[in-house]
Amino acid sequence: MKTKIYMDHAATTPVRQEVLAEMLPYFTEHYGNASGIYVVAKESKKALEHARAQVAEAIHAKPTEIYFTAGGSESDNMALRGVAEAMQQKGNHIITTKIEHHAILHTCEYLEKHGFAVTYLDVDENGKIRMEDLKAAIRPETILISVMFANNEIGTIQPIAEIGKLAKEKGIVFHTDAVQAMGHVPIDVEQMQIDLLSISGHKLGAPKGIGAIYIRTGIKVCPLIFGGAQEKKMRAGTENIPGIVGLGKAVELAVAEMPEVTPRLEKMRDRLIHGILDTIPYSKLNGHPTDRLPGNCNISFEFIEGESMLLLLDAAGIAASSGSACTSGSLDPSHVLLAIGLPHEKAHGSLRLTLDWDNTDAEIDEVLQKLPPIVQRLREMSPLYEEIMKQQN
Ligand SMILES: *Cc1c(COP(=O)(O)O)cnc(C)c1O
Repeated sequence: MKTKIYMDHAATTPVRQEVLAEMLPYFTEHYGNASGIYVVAKESKKALEHARAQVAEAIHAKPTEIYFTAGGSESDNMALRGVAEAMQQKGNHIITTKIEHHAILHTCEYLEKHGFAVTYLDVDENGKIRMEDLKAAIRPETILISVMFANNEIGTIQPIAEIGKLAKEKGIVFHTDAVQAMGHVPIDVEQMQIDLLSISGHKLGAPKGIGAIYIRTGIKVCPLIFGGAQEKKMRAGTENIPGIVGLGKAVELAVAEMPEVTPRLEKMRDRLIHGILDTIPYSKLNGHPTDRLPGNCNISFEFIEGESMLLLLDAAGIAASSGSACTSGSLDPSHVLLAIGLPHEKAHGSLRLTLDWDNTDAEIDEVLQKLPPIVQRLREMSPLYEEIMKQQN
């Protein structure tokens, strides 16, 4: 069966029609290399600078502070490795959290092998860091704090402005992975005192393989990719003009539509969450009850395996994701669910439904109707569940 209901927007989104329409001429008509001096190149150069201004405006930055990359992972790598290398004379200590995306965590592990020390902050049961922990972790040699804006699995939003204020007071560079937050939560790099910020196109209606990094004027960062002089020598390689045009448009649209889309998503999300919790026993919401992404619903069900639930949902035409084993290609359940204190078995039985602009109320109704019998069917196959039911009767 074909997917009818797509609720995995935190994994990727379709390219929006309006975005695709803006991009198309840059594949065929305006194909010039932005470095050229002839007319077709000037069209590319103009589009590049227009997109840079669109991204800058969306986060209250200056266009000169925006650099295009090939996605969120590259931006995260560039922020961490770039700052670490540029500031190694000043210190070798980095602070991050246990619930970051692997683009951050694996880069930190790499840096640990190359002379840097990393503190991984714990989070509370809702997935938030504690400001006291962050304060206590700061050392004289701390050069960088990297805390994600909003979590991709449980949707929890961190106290970004508070972290920015503290980092500023202590003279420490502050990076945030805002891949999930961009276009979903208002972002202001000035008011929040953010020094570096990563975004990715395919999480907000632009294509895969395009992203950007904001680097505040004056912050020293070494480049990752060497070659030509593109992006002020900070990111060599002929610019992906269609992708960049798409990212600029998608960011502009998402931010402009936020006042209308956010309340609609929150309403659908809350109906989904409460509809599930009210009808399915032994279920629990993961992530912060209120400080969470408008489209994120993450729920754990006892006595079942997330993977089997995803297969049955897929057979019912519903695309979702889980914090269980196979999805991540490892046997361990999600590091995020373990970090908020879920025991292994509950982490394995989790379901993530992530909504965006293209979801509808009718889809919420359908999921609320189809999910309970799927959970029930799987539980009936669980010896542990059978045991609990026997004890109750
Ligand atoms: C998806 C994601 C990334 C990686 O972005 P890509 O563009 O897929 O490389 C990084 N961080 C978070 C929080 C994400 O959700």
